[in-house]
Amino acid sequence: MLDLKALYGIEAFAPIPLAECTIQKPYLLERAGISAGSGSALLFLLPYYTAGGEGGNISMYAVAEDYHRYCETLFADIAPRLSQLLPGAKFKGFADHSPIREVEAAARAGLGIMGENGLLISEKYSSFVFIGGIYTDAGADAWEALVGAWPRGSYEPGRCPGCGECMRACPAHAILGGGHIDRERCFSAVTQKKKLADGDGDGIAGAEYIWGCDVCGLACPYTRAARAAGTLETPLQYFREKLIKTLDESTLSDLVMSGEFERHAFSWRGEGVVRRNLRLREGKDHEDRD
Ligand code: SF4
Ligand code: SF4
Repeated sequence: MLDLKALYGIEAFAPIPLAECTIQKPYLLERAGISAGSGSALLFLLPYYTAGGEGGNISMYAVAEDYHRYCETLFADIAPRLSQLLPGAKFKGFADHSPIREVEAAARAGLGIMGENGLLISEKYSSFVFIGGIYTDAGADAWEALVGAWPRGSYEPGRCPGCGECMRACPAHAILGGGHIDRERCFSAVTQKKKLADGDGDGIAGAEYIWGCDVCGLACPYTRAARAAGTLETPLQYFREKLIKTLDESTLSDLVMSGEFERHAFSWRGEGVVRRNLRLREGKDHEDRD
């Protein structure tokens, strides 16, 4: 049996049958040779909040190097180990670009509750978590022998109490209630757009972050509780080092020149999008507002 905490520092994990998940990209499962009807996934949380990333203009999820890289390394290590334990079974890791609705599935698996702000909230870590998953053609019961985790049996997702603090704090008025978010207005999405819509430029110009947005996560009482309990800070070293918490034009140019830019999640839409956001924040680029 694999000790995920000792091997990878992963403490929150739970299996779920894929039949209990909302499948949004079935082709990913098909390519991996995994049946949505009989397969399962072990979902896990990667807490990423670090005090070293506070106070800048980059959302906390992107201050360390890209978590997709972290997950790729993790998956490359863990899949062969699992195959040794269960020969003949297929294992494939996904994070973010995943076959299922991850927030809902993680809540169904018991790893947290669904927040009004559309995020998964872990009681221990708050909403500052990435969700990853190892998918297999074996059933959910197989995870007991593999990693010592049992399926819940009941998969009703929990929901947050709906205190409304995130909604009141949201500068874009993008939290609509009932767990629905207006993605066209949410700054986390708007700062990643290649082509801005009417009003987007003004939104970025006035936003706290030039990439992403942590306002609703920070406003949530679960985040305050995790901070008070001492469990908000990630124990995972990857997310505590090589931090870029503030970008300006000079830092961005240095990152691009050195090739480091590509190692960060804020490179996803290319240098031009980040540079445009910086210009908008500095009031230098009025054309992008149209
Ligand atoms: S701030 Fe309140 S309503 Fe919003 S996600 Fe947190 S608990 Fe839910
Ligand atoms: S990420 Fe920011 S803009 Fe988006 S819903 Fe949360 S507070 Fe609003």
